Amino acid sequence: MNTTDQTCTIAQLKEQIRNFVKERDWEQFHTPKDLAIGLSVEAAELLEHFRFQSEADIAARLKDEASLKDIGHELADILYFVLLMSDRFGLDTASTFEEKLKISAARYPIAEARGKNLKYTELEQERE
Ligand SMILES: [Mg+2]
Repeated sequence: MNTTDQTCTIAQLKEQIRNFVKERDWEQFHTPKDLAIGLSVEAAELLEHFRFQSEADIAARLKDEASLKDIGHELADILYFVLLMSDRFGLDTASTFEEKLKISAARYPIAEARGKNLKYTELEQERE
C-alpha cells in the first residue's frame, strides 16, 4: 500500500469503501441509524485510548509506535463511517467540510476567539 494523503482523493476513498461494503453484502445493515451508531461506537473506541490516562501517559502513548498505530486505526474507523455516510446520503464531503468551516469561521471570528476555548454562544454573550 502506497496510498498517502498527497496521492489519494476523497472520491477514491469512498470508492474503496463502496467496494469493501459491496463485496461483503453489508448494504443491508447500513441504515442511517446504524451508520450513525457505528460512527459513535468508533469514536468511543478512540476515547478508550485516553480514558484514565494522565497528560504524561498520553504524551508517552503518542510517542509509542504501536499505540500510535492503534489510535490511527481508530481514526480510520471513524473516517470510514464519515465517508460511508456522506456517500450514502449523497453529500460531497469536501464541499460540505468547506461550507462548515466557513460557518465555524463566522462563529469564531479570529479577533474574538484567538486563544480562547469558549463555545461560540459564549463568545456571543461576551459580545453583548
Ligand atoms: Mg474501531
